[in-house]
Amino acid sequence: MDPRAAIAQTLRSSTHTLIVCHVGPDGDCLGAGLALGWALRSLGGLATVASADGVPTSLRFLPGAADVVTDLPPGWAPDVAVTVECSGLDRAGRLEAAVRRARVIVAIDHHADLQPYAHLVDWDRSAAAVGEQVADLILRLGVSIDRTIAVCLLTALVTDTGAFRYANTTPRALRLAADLIERGASVHGIVREVYEQQSASALRLLGHALTSLTLHHDGAVAVAVITPGMLAASGARPEEASGLAALLRTVTGVRLAMSLEDAGGMIRVSLRSRDGVRADRVARALGGGGHPAAAGAEVPGTLEDVMRRALDLAAHELRAAMPDEPSSP
Ligand code: AMP
Ligand code: MN
Repeated sequence: MDPRAAIAQTLRSSTHTLIVCHVGPDGDCLGAGLALGWALRSLGGLATVASADGVPTSLRFLPGAADVVTDLPPGWAPDVAVTVECSGLDRAGRLEAAVRRARVIVAIDHHADLQPYAHLVDWDRSAAAVGEQVADLILRLGVSIDRTIAVCLLTALVTDTGAFRYANTTPRALRLAADLIERGASVHGIVREVYEQQSASALRLLGHALTSLTLHHDGAVAVAVITPGMLAASGARPEEASGLAALLRTVTGVRLAMSLEDAGGMIRVSLRSRDGVRADRVARALGGGGHPAAAGAEVPGTLEDVMRRALDLAAHELRAAMPDEPSSP
């Protein structure tokens, strides 16, 4: 049986399914996770969507976002646990223990690497978003996609394709998007909720961070930092600078962009690349992971040390990259 059919069968007989997003959740993992939760409930099952870091403000419009839990009762064991985009179980944050207690663990992912922690795995690196995989899973469950599910899945696609601008904007992604629009979801509405409801303090933080922009390796690498001082001066929360690395990548000649946020002893590195430069390899060498063109890591150390290490790794990846190789996000 193919893995997705086996997963559908397991989910159909699950008494209570726990759906777990990764720490620092994005629109893809939350949209896909919530969509699956709605589908399972429509079949009469119990489903809980959990995210150790809750739901970022820009994604609170998602149907079901208010019911996403950040903690679970101590010792509680779900029948089936589904991890969404967790390359390792540590990516579930403090929800890891509950996932481990499940009778069956299912992993759904489209990242470059996935550790073998699950009993059943739906791993498709060609998917633009895990939302694509979950859309197919929902059809296999025999659930018809209504407007609620369509909004969740289209949000997954919109956020992981940069609103259909990145190299992963495939015919498959656009066909699914068209279908979801016919079912009542709106790209315009989602783009407005996700990208056009920013706080003034978020833009001020971006302004502070952009003044730190430096170019390295003959202009191929752009770096900007977010310091505690910038957060205090702007009044923004760190998550509000999430678009910074993608913005840095737009500079002419830049092939790898990185933002480094000083979270006090821990540096959050966010990487975006193009032209075949492997951001995921830089991230993995720093202890993180991700996609070829969008990756991240949390690295203990000082801003200066982590930047130096990241720039060394960047130099290596620039040399290794094939020119003219298109990257997907
Ligand atoms: P971000 O820059 O936080 O938007 O992350 C870009 C991509 O890298 C996302 O797909 C994340 O899931 C992945 N990622 C970020 N941080 C980590 C990490 N510490 N370990 C593994 N993957 C990560
Ligand atoms: Mn994704």
